[in-house]
Amino acid sequence: MLWTDLREEEFYEAIEETKGLCVMPVGCLEMHGQHLPVATDTMKITYALHEAAKIEPVMEFPPFMFGDVQGHIRWKGAIRLTVELQQELLKQLCSEIARNGFKKILLLNSHGGNKFMIGNFIRSTLHDKKDYVVTSCSLGAKYGSPYYMMEVLEKEGREALYELTDEDIEVIKEFDENKRTYGHAGFGETALIFGCRPELVRMDKADALSGLSTHRADYLYELGLGESTQFWSVNYPNNYAGDTPYGCNERFGKCAMRLLTRAVLKVIRTLKYDENIMKWNEERNRFW
Ligand SMILES: [Zn+2]
Repeated sequence: MLWTDLREEEFYEAIEETKGLCVMPVGCLEMHGQHLPVATDTMKITYALHEAAKIEPVMEFPPFMFGDVQGHIRWKGAIRLTVELQQELLKQLCSEIARNGFKKILLLNSHGGNKFMIGNFIRSTLHDKKDYVVTSCSLGAKYGSPYYMMEVLEKEGREALYELTDEDIEVIKEFDENKRTYGHAGFGETALIFGCRPELVRMDKADALSGLSTHRADYLYELGLGESTQFWSVNYPNNYAGDTPYGCNERFGKCAMRLLTRAVLKVIRTLKYDENIMKWNEERNRFW
């Protein structure tokens, strides 16, 4: 159920049908190696939400793609709003969503760098009395990673990864045995873009740059001093973190997107049918 596609009078029924749950996908615009589009984080979560909402209707708000990418100034394609402006936009958008009758708002994030900005924003919403509740959840690359697929394989059996061929299973095992990594633009995200926009993946460019860490800032991370995304960029100067996703393909894409959709579905179902959150908010409001 897309906010953008409804006519005015359909909103009344939509509030009932979604139990007042509106979900805003949150991503960013930033380089994802030379093989994935800059809107990777926005695309993958918006698509998974749409798939999940076909099964469990929730209001799908247009994606917020101007997330926090402060560290990324070296390469083209990133759009960096100030954190203050991002938070102000979220504040006003949530307030408008609530004014329209959706009192449970989920910021469904898929960009690691947004976690601090969103966390702070949500805490800021508690300063005033509100008749709505904002919460967030970060889901993404993990669901396309060979490690997660390995876990699913072990717990749920071969049929749980039915899209994959035996050759693909070998790719997972090889990745696992060699303890390969899959961060930003790595195997997980490559699979997820194969799952939603396969025509945009350029596997011929996957090794155009190295995704391996320079380890230059490791000593800071080891002491818990890694908060600045500048240090991340020192370790990963190519805005690419992880081993080259050799063997990734459209079958991995379908599988990854199905697993991510399943995770989104679980989250939206829990929030949609939850009866405590609004009650707790009302209780809190009584102390105002
Ligand atoms: Zn990403």
